[in-house]
Amino acid sequence: MKEKYLQRKQELVDELSSLSGLIRGSLVHSQKQCGREECLCATEGVLHPFTCLSRSVGTKKHKVIYVKPREEPLYAKAVKDYARMKEIIEELSEINIRLIRRQHRRNGSG
Ligand SMILES: [Zn+2]
Repeated sequence: MKEKYLQRKQELVDELSSLSGLIRGSLVHSQKQCGREECLCATEGVLHPFTCLSRSVGTKKHKVIYVKPREEPLYAKAVKDYARMKEIIEELSEINIRLIRRQHRRNGSG
């Protein structure tokens, strides 16, 4: 049983180290007017879609950067990798608690 946890722990640690390209933040999709008076966005209300990366810094501030369309898949993967990292940390926490309890019991200290 312990081997199973140790094996799973190693798998998670390996996966964790593969997620170094992660970014903590979220992609925000929105629309805007470009400012050109003759553009359809001004004359017809057909707005331009755009994507931003928003990151919280401190308690209430956000840093927002514009994401170029060709870069969006890279940012999307990085944001997804961060979410996966959080999942891994949760699972690792569960495993480590079990391992500590097991060790504690084996040492006979109750
Ligand atoms: Zn426009």
